[in-house]
Amino acid sequence: MARVLIVGAGLTGSLCAALLRREASSPLRLTVWDKAGDSGGRMTTASSPHNPQSTVDLGAQYITCTPHYAKIHQSFYDELLAGGILKPLTSPIDGMVIKEGDCNFVAPHGVSSIVNHYLKQSGADICFRQRVTQINLRNNKWEVSRETGSSEQFDVIVLTMPAPQILQLRGDITNLISECQRQQLESVSYSSRYALGLFYEAGTKIDVPWAGRYITSNPCIRFISIDNKKRNIESSEIGPSLVIHTTVPFGVTHLEHSIEDVQELIFQQLENILPGLPQPVATKCQKWRHSQGFLHKSATTPACTISREPAEKQIIVIREATKCLRDEGRGIQRKVLHDTSPNGMMDQYSTQSPPAHTQWEKMPLRHAAAALKPDCARGRRRKFWLPAISNPST
Ligand SMILES: Cc1cc2nc3c(=O)[nH]c(=O)nc-3n(C[C@H](O)[C@H](O)[C@H](O)COP(=O)(O)OP(=O)(O)OC[C@H]3O[C@@H](n4cnc5c(N)ncnc54)[C@H](O)[C@@H]3O)c2cc1C
Repeated sequence: MARVLIVGAGLTGSLCAALLRREASSPLRLTVWDKAGDSGGRMTTASSPHNPQSTVDLGAQYITCTPHYAKIHQSFYDELLAGGILKPLTSPIDGMVIKEGDCNFVAPHGVSSIVNHYLKQSGADICFRQRVTQINLRNNKWEVSRETGSSEQFDVIVLTMPAPQILQLRGDITNLISECQRQQLESVSYSSRYALGLFYEAGTKIDVPWAGRYITSNPCIRFISIDNKKRNIESSEIGPSLVIHTTVPFGVTHLEHSIEDVQELIFQQLENILPGLPQPVATKCQKWRHSQGFLHKSATTPACTISREPAEKQIIVIREATKCLRDEGRGIQRKVLHDTSPNGMMDQYSTQSPPAHTQWEKMPLRHAAAALKPDCARGRRRKFWLPAISNPST
């Protein structure tokens, strides 16, 4: 049975695992490794140490479904809505720009519940605190080393972490990534920001008419959400929880500062925006070094395949299944390009106009699983589109 390792237990990794499980033509042994202590990645939900029911979404806040994505990914939304994992966002978000036809959703159990939904469906072996450090070729298998624990061998590896973290990997992979692929990965840039979660005692009142608010006039704070209110959950037993996102300039300036210092600076600015806010019973400050990613205009897709003969031995790089660029109204489509060309290496990112010599097939994410089919004809190129199921919004 082919062993597949997915690196990253964020939305991309979890969705990829679930779809591989659903669609793979032959049985697979799926494993997910993540360096963090829990699932979610940038869709992480933190709990108060005093009450696990008091939670904040430290990364993604809400999911925006544009008419385009509604058309091509309706089944994803239907499934998440039917399972109560998503529900329409009805609480007021001050300063939010709503485009005609867009629908916004929140996750009542926290945004990480979307990731957990897919991880559960995948039936994968999920291991946390496993930081992948090296990928080498051994006996026609990929040998993956991690910071702690012994290395393991896999037939296929799917990398879903931000591009700079892929480029930090050592071992044979450094030579297998072509110059063109390296340039493309290097061209992905990220904003940086901090998120501060605040947990309050039950009964605390935060008397504002909004559930979320975009701030335009503060050098430090860009967005505040009263997270329980955002999800329409108000209970006498669970205290309110807030999340504050900093501006990108603040995040960049303070990237290497201590979390304690950054937290203090955010508190000082928060006092100007919400004077008299009571002391929280717990806090959680998160640095997002790679917050939201941006592609260079010439590279409209963030996925590629490093393929070795035989066809099923490959590394697939997928970046952010959720993300689409709003500029120019273009969605970034995820793709897995499966290249079984004689040199065994994929060296292309797709552009808006695919090269004429490439055979392109537009396929939904579930067909990415077909990339694992061992019967792909030698020399044939296939392209698999992976869905972006939401917009970044902050
Ligand atoms: C502050 C903020 C606000 C956002 N707001 C929104 C929003 O409102 N709506 C929206 O749709 N999107 C939003 N986004 C973007 C959204 O969160 C991301 O697009 C999405 O979560 C990316 O998922 P991913 O799985 O591709 O990557 P990640 O979630 O980054 O997953 C990658 C995983 O790989 C792991 N990893 C990295 N390196 C290694 C390694 N060497 N070994 C093992 N594991 C490793 C990481 O721990 C991580 O869990 C926001 C993001 C941030 C940071």
